[in-house]
Amino acid sequence: MTRPTRDDTVEYSDFSAQTFLPEAARALSRAVRELGEVVLPTECVGCGAWDEVVCEQCLEKLLAKPRHFDPLAESSTAPGEGFPGFAVATYEGPMRRLVLAGKHDKRRNLRPYFSAAGLQAAVAVAPEFCPAAPYGEVFVVPAPSTTPGSPSLAASAFAEGIRSGMVKSRAARSCGILEILRMKPGAKKQAGLGYAERISNRHHQMELAGPDVHGELRGAKLVLVDDVTTTGSTLLEMARVLQGAGAKILASFVFASTHFSE
Ligand SMILES: [Zn+2]
Repeated sequence: MTRPTRDDTVEYSDFSAQTFLPEAARALSRAVRELGEVVLPTECVGCGAWDEVVCEQCLEKLLAKPRHFDPLAESSTAPGEGFPGFAVATYEGPMRRLVLAGKHDKRRNLRPYFSAAGLQAAVAVAPEFCPAAPYGEVFVVPAPSTTPGSPSLAASAFAEGIRSGMVKSRAARSCGILEILRMKPGAKKQAGLGYAERISNRHHQMELAGPDVHGELRGAKLVLVDDVTTTGSTLLEMARVLQGAGAKILASFVFASTHFSE
């Protein structure tokens, strides 16, 4: 288990009073270009427009206020307590291409974009699931990778952004990332599976990364994060294991979802 050290736990003081507004999106885009990632005009990863790595229209979708989805809606055997689900984008078209590039395309650095998306998302909806007074310590738990050693860059950057957003929104005094779940040996990937298969494929496929973390999770306040959800089955399986160890799940965030509550 990776315990967050002092260095990677975000505190209030890490942020200036300045707020991160959508206008900052343009500055972000400029900054990424100036890092030398892309000097020449290029095609937008999302929509193919001859523009920047992520064009302004796609950037707007990427930094949108999250919408609700119900992680338990598809489950007939919903375990434990319910918790709200939030998704920034619909998993289709430009945002789907952006996620796929974020997972697999090593040539372009899309990390700052997914990180900004996570930060914006958490800041926008934290008041909906946090009480007026902030929680002391909250942990972000990313979904475990089905290919160990090669996690999705989009997913880890998005989780990083959520962590920053939890503190920036003053929902939590401090927030770290806990990589405490792993797939059981032999667990299969979701890609290529049909809808019903995806749901059963995730059932009882995760476990805690070590027996010693069990005690530490009792009463811990957690936010679950994944890059994409199609059936909610990964989030449900995460919840089953974590609630089973006595943790309280405050909310779940995905970057993109195929379905919404509204
Ligand atoms: Zn675009």
